[in-house]
Amino acid sequence: MTEKLAHTPPAAPARGPRGLIFEIGAPESRCVEPPALDVPEVDLDEVLGGAARVEPPVLPHVTEVEIARHYSHLASMNFGVDSGSYPLGSCTMKYNPRVNEDACRMAGFSGLHPAQPVETVQGALELMVGLAEALAEVSGLPGVTLQPAAGAHGELTALMAFRAYHADRGDVRKRVLIPDSAHGTNPATVTMCGYETVTIPSDATGGVDMAALHAALDTDVAAVMLTNPNTLGLFERNIIEITRAVHDVGALAYCDGANLNAIMGVTRPGDAGFDALHINLHKTFSTPHGGGGPGAGPVCVTEELAPYLPGPLPVLRPDGVYDWQVPARSIGRIRAGYGNFGVLVRAYAYVRALGAEGLAEASEQAVLSANYLKERLRGAFELAYDRTCMHEFVLSGSRQKREHGVRTLDIAKRLLDHGFHPPTVYFPLIVEEALMIEPTETESLAELDRFADALIAIAEEAAADPDAVRSAPFTTPVRRVDEARAARTPDLRYDPAR
Ligand SMILES: *Cc1c(COP(=O)(O)O)cnc(C)c1O
Repeated sequence: MTEKLAHTPPAAPARGPRGLIFEIGAPESRCVEPPALDVPEVDLDEVLGGAARVEPPVLPHVTEVEIARHYSHLASMNFGVDSGSYPLGSCTMKYNPRVNEDACRMAGFSGLHPAQPVETVQGALELMVGLAEALAEVSGLPGVTLQPAAGAHGELTALMAFRAYHADRGDVRKRVLIPDSAHGTNPATVTMCGYETVTIPSDATGGVDMAALHAALDTDVAAVMLTNPNTLGLFERNIIEITRAVHDVGALAYCDGANLNAIMGVTRPGDAGFDALHINLHKTFSTPHGGGGPGAGPVCVTEELAPYLPGPLPVLRPDGVYDWQVPARSIGRIRAGYGNFGVLVRAYAYVRALGAEGLAEASEQAVLSANYLKERLRGAFELAYDRTCMHEFVLSGSRQKREHGVRTLDIAKRLLDHGFHPPTVYFPLIVEEALMIEPTETESLAELDRFADALIAIAEEAAADPDAVRSAPFTTPVRRVDEARAARTPDLRYDPAR
């Protein structure tokens, strides 16, 4: 049992909102004093041909100490991986080693321009080729593009390559099969690519329903998109049978590899018969993410599909010079520049620091942590699928809802009072009142225990004092927000006159 938490909010939460930057400071306040003018004064409006603005812009007027405190305060109201554990299932919110940040900020990397001649960017190209080789090794798929900017972007890239591959065989196919446990980006990608999604149900053990899969497979199917391990945190037991059946009808097998942190260095999607895979570097290979920051979703493919990859690709020419090359049947460029290079540098630093053994150990640790938490929590909550899990597992809050009228959303909010970011909730959709927990390999045993203790305490509180759980959180800068109104009528503009 953890200590009982306060039910009443503090009179004035010290971490509460303190106003916008426009509302602090004074007209005469400045961070910087420009030096006195030592060149002839010009009329800006004349220089700009009458295009200078008429009214001065509304800018905040603050001193350096005010701006420092303002942003430090905002940061302290936020919750991030550096504030506490963040077991957001499927998102892999793990600790990102600082050394990777140092590496990507080195001037020789951060100051590059995409249009620089190749002779001046040999080091950057060498890094990209080295990273592509490492990802080929990890995935078991030799063709690699680093261009896609996110996992979903990688999915689209691969499906476009699939379509080009089928088209080259004079094969027009219409449908893509996706299990009902898939991430929402999978069907969205299918639709964007002009295909039709067919949903395949899961069986009682959380795997693909094989009878339904076989029934849906025909020569109109372009591809099957599978996540392995799937979003229930379960390794697909029939994976070889699935990829074989897909190939038997001339379709291609796609693996959503966003959950690669469960298997890297242990088993390879290429060896299981997949034709293509995307990898979320910002999840598995330690780039800070969330809030829409830059990511990278490299795609690895078989030799047969490599000619369709987006170009240009970084290559080592036979004369030892690194260069760009466009694959023979390329689908073209899918992103400006060559990808989010800073993310690639972090991933390269991470791979080189851990090595093959370290990557395997990271996966093993992630799986061990998830299974440990699952065993500690199985008494307090219903377990959606009672199997050994991979890097994450799914609990259900349906007992709490049924017996005490406490919903999963309430449990998630109450966790905030215990100092934890809540897990993913209400996903995957096939589990009622789902709580999807991914502890990651970077949390210590003590921290895993603290998290389990908090969830068990909340389960006990749901029975003893359900109102307290339903009214949580009590200690956060902002309490419950009206999420529907925030989504439907967002008020994001600052009006100085208001
Ligand atoms: C995160 C995730 C994605 C999407 O990745 P983005 O980088 O957010 O586009 C796709 N599939 C799965 C299983 C994921 O966890």
